[in-house]
Amino acid sequence: MGAWAAYLKSGIGQVIAFALPPRCPGCGAVTGEDHSFCADCWQQLDFLGDPACAACGDPFALDRGPDALCGACLADRPAFDRARGAVAYGEIARKVALRLKYGGRPALAETIARAIARLADEEQDALIVPIPLHRWRIWRRGYNQAALIATALGRRTGIPVELDLVRRVKATPVLRAMGPAARAKALRGAFRVTGRHRAMVKGRAILLVDDVYTTGATGNACARALKKAGAARVRLVCWARVVRDEAERH
Ligand SMILES: [Zn+2]
Ligand SMILES: [Zn+2]
Repeated sequence: MGAWAAYLKSGIGQVIAFALPPRCPGCGAVTGEDHSFCADCWQQLDFLGDPACAACGDPFALDRGPDALCGACLADRPAFDRARGAVAYGEIARKVALRLKYGGRPALAETIARAIARLADEEQDALIVPIPLHRWRIWRRGYNQAALIATALGRRTGIPVELDLVRRVKATPVLRAMGPAARAKALRGAFRVTGRHRAMVKGRAILLVDDVYTTGATGNACARALKKAGAARVRLVCWARVVRDEAERH
């Protein structure tokens, strides 16, 4: 268990959370209720839904049916069966993700889990698994933000969580600036299902959890490792998703 998770579970964490006034997870303004956004931030959040690509969840402007795929997924179907984000990656969504990642605000994992919970409706038979960080990154930061979200989501939905099912065995550079081919190369062999977990994965539905979905390359590599280990189904849920063609939606 990470230091933050232990802190959250401890009575001290709960007493402190209780004593402080609730604040907007987006801007920090005092609000009436824990985990609720102020009116300004709420209005700026772009909650995602249908219609969207059946595989990657990229929103469509027009409904093309429940099984329709976007061009990218038609050309190269991802290893995960489906990916969905709670909100589009915009200014407020980004702030929330960064505050969880670097700001040491673990209560935000609970806020995010609340937003993601609706995406986990049909996943009662699944096993929640966070996309892992390489241990060097965990040492530097102290925790894996995806693991915090996964733990909070498990608590909220009652779906079992397995934090160490997948290992990140290769440290990968920042992928943002890379093209698709370089990204795929950097991620090759980056994830592995640990030996003692192989039996658990076989024939199982896995619900992968991450904070942000940018190109899907990381989720894809992680899903590939899970499918290789015999997972029956791999779906991915995240807080914020970069929407590929923002202009097309409006
Ligand atoms: Zn706000
Ligand atoms: Zn797609």
